[in-house]
Amino acid sequence: MYHKIAALALMVALFSSNIANGKKITKIVLDAGHGGKDIGARGQFSQEKDITLAVILKLGKIMADSMKDVQVIYTRTDDTYPTLVDRHEVANRSNADLFLSVHVNSTAYTYTRVQEGYRTVKKGRKRVKVPVYRSIRHHETAAHGVETYVLGLHRNSQKENAIGEYSDNVTSEPGLLDEKDPQTAIIVAQYTQAFLKRSVSLGSKIEQQFGDEGRLELGVKQKGLEVLAGSAMPGVLVEIGFINNVQEETYLNSDAGQREVALAIYRGIKAYKADVEK
Ligand SMILES: [Zn+2]
Repeated sequence: MYHKIAALALMVALFSSNIANGKKITKIVLDAGHGGKDIGARGQFSQEKDITLAVILKLGKIMADSMKDVQVIYTRTDDTYPTLVDRHEVANRSNADLFLSVHVNSTAYTYTRVQEGYRTVKKGRKRVKVPVYRSIRHHETAAHGVETYVLGLHRNSQKENAIGEYSDNVTSEPGLLDEKDPQTAIIVAQYTQAFLKRSVSLGSKIEQQFGDEGRLELGVKQKGLEVLAGSAMPGVLVEIGFINNVQEETYLNSDAGQREVALAIYRGIKAYKADVEK
């Protein structure tokens, strides 16, 4: 019986903290993917870590100017490498309402075999010519567009741990969040579901804004992403284009392109915020 009451109280506390409707969005974590020794994906003339930082800083500036009721928290503002744990700690300690990570997409290398010439080999008494091949690595792609990821369900346990570790409502009553208890497990699962729903909603709104700018919407996808799994808040990871598509690489390195990308994300956050706060 105690468990039932405690669980119910926990559920109310959890849902009223980060998930309830009418809740104001007051803090957002902006995470520039990679950094420092971790360069991320590489294009023909640029590196992912520099593009993500430039876009995040532009987005933060737009938010500071136009969304004054929201505090922006950065995981990095220069060319340093916070680990994933560091990033989550920033997010969870600040008790933020949203986690937004920016990355740049890349496709895998492909190889083609080309004939380079011939060489002569001995075959019995005869000498015969055999072709010589060489492997050429290709990295250029025609793939383009914007892809948004939300936390996948198979990483739930990590997310649940984050909730247990950091949520005020949980840590104030140590031992309460016992996942072996079936009822608690259900509540944690519901909480995670609620996060997921919110994340998908934010992701869709961001994708839509990119679509309005004429970029290809590759959609909101679910994936077990470490970078999102440790934060006890809704979050999305936006892959803002393909670094190994030279048009997109050029666009993402331009001031105008970075500003457009930042604006699309900003408008998506704004629409999400209006939706949550109504
Ligand atoms: Zn990345």
